[in-house]
Amino acid sequence: MLSHLHWDHVHGLPFFEAADRDDARTTVYLPDPDDGSKAVDVLARGMSPPHFPVRPDDLRGSWSFVGLAPGTLEIEGYTVTVNEIPHKGGRTYGVRVSDGESTVAYLPDHCPSDVGPGPHGWGEYHASALALADHADVLIHDAQFTARELATKRYLGHAAAEYAVALGRAAGVTRVLLFHHQPDRTDDALDALAHSFHAPPLVSVASESLVLDLP
Ligand SMILES: [Zn+2]
Ligand SMILES: [Zn+2]
Repeated sequence: MLSHLHWDHVHGLPFFEAADRDDARTTVYLPDPDDGSKAVDVLARGMSPPHFPVRPDDLRGSWSFVGLAPGTLEIEGYTVTVNEIPHKGGRTYGVRVSDGESTVAYLPDHCPSDVGPGPHGWGEYHASALALADHADVLIHDAQFTARELATKRYLGHAAAEYAVALGRAAGVTRVLLFHHQPDRTDDALDALAHSFHAPPLVSVASESLVLDLP
């Protein structure tokens, strides 16, 4: 599921070895553009020559591309709710996925400061974001910046870690995983950032291949 089509969320597709394989079956869910065009055509605008040699149709195996409107649907045994959340530069979704026992909310790019400073200065607690995260076991949230950095980085359309944690607290989630890290922040700095917050909720740093045991 792609929350939106910014570079940093689609450039990995052709290098995703588990799917780009003759014997693989892959369904990509991505936002339906709000201008009436087909979602896969919008993806192909950036994923085609001269920008890139491989088009979505050229990927190996069986790929299908499904444009999503906001709402709730069943996908392979999971209940999936998608909703628009504020993020600069095109339609962007947050996602809530549940198997009936555990629930994960995934809001990879979110710029709540676009809709106002909110009570703490790092952005409004947006109703869509609160609804998606409501009592989730895990909230995986954009935390590219710190509240201090936000003043000069706001133009990039991302959230402060402080917002992600406070949103999780307001929504009653058990755990917040800070995600979409600032590229030049070191592992030690990320751990220190996570440790600067007091539970609840539990706060830790998302990393590739991380496995969580949920209740
Ligand atoms: Zn983005
Ligand atoms: Zn992003």
